[in-house]
Amino acid sequence: MEIITSIEKMQKLSLKFKREGKKLGFIPTMGCLHEGHLSLVDLLVVKSDILILSIFVNPTQFVEGEDLEQYPRTFEEDVEKSKARGVDIIFAPKADEMYEFGFSTQISESNISNRLCGKSRPDHFNGVVTVCTKLFNICQPDFVSLGQKDAQQVAVLKKLVNDLNIPLSIEVGEIIREHDGLAMSSRNTYLNHDERKDALVLSKALDLAKSLVDSGCNKTNEIKEELGKLFKSVSCARVDYVEIVDSETMEFQRKVLSENSLLMLAVWINKVRLIDNRLL
Ligand code: AMP
Repeated sequence: MEIITSIEKMQKLSLKFKREGKKLGFIPTMGCLHEGHLSLVDLLVVKSDILILSIFVNPTQFVEGEDLEQYPRTFEEDVEKSKARGVDIIFAPKADEMYEFGFSTQISESNISNRLCGKSRPDHFNGVVTVCTKLFNICQPDFVSLGQKDAQQVAVLKKLVNDLNIPLSIEVGEIIREHDGLAMSSRNTYLNHDERKDALVLSKALDLAKSLVDSGCNKTNEIKEELGKLFKSVSCARVDYVEIVDSETMEFQRKVLSENSLLMLAVWINKVRLIDNRLL
């Protein structure tokens, strides 16, 4: 396995592989790899001739006051895990090469990006869409795998690829969870012992919603009300949003459920903001 930090070297190599007719798989990450990330490697490892995983803590997708400096960085372990799982190249560019002095171009998706996480984290998706466009241009992937854990990000990036005719296909990997149900996330490392227990309220809320639906409830407000009560019962939990949306368009479903109803949660556990979702 090779580690590449130079943008020019990575792009030249990707273009060479393409000329040779090789199929390239790509997994964009911010590192601190866990099973969630590695399951995305598994999705592409067989069909890709060359599998590239990027590790880049992208400053432009953090909004002011967020955890850019503290974001966990575990490069050595990430390298070992990636190698063991079949990654061929780790692309780990430096921020000052990705955003050279004078960088002034931004791509933005202006519909899906403005709600849910986009509302509480203005400009977050502009950062995601711009960095992914750069990474796609550098790494030239045929296949990209993304996690359903970040469902809104998936919807925004699918829109980017469709709207700008970027020639790649997106595969979505299911949410990988800890044994007790907490969705894996690099930010779980911020939780102390008690917060880790309280964080289970997110997956409990998803289960509660599913059981309400299974017992015949199809009114979105009734479901949200019940979840509101559950979150209130955990003193350190503060809801950012609890919404039911169409899983493709991320349109809010204000009345009744449909085939594609996706429950989306963003909840603060003290100072740690966690997200999770489930199809209902
Ligand atoms: P990140 O490093 O947080 O930017 O995530 C990189 C990719 O891993 C994104 O496509 C995420 O959706 C995906 N991912 C993160 N956590 C999980 C998880 N628990 N299960 C599946 N995919 C995940």
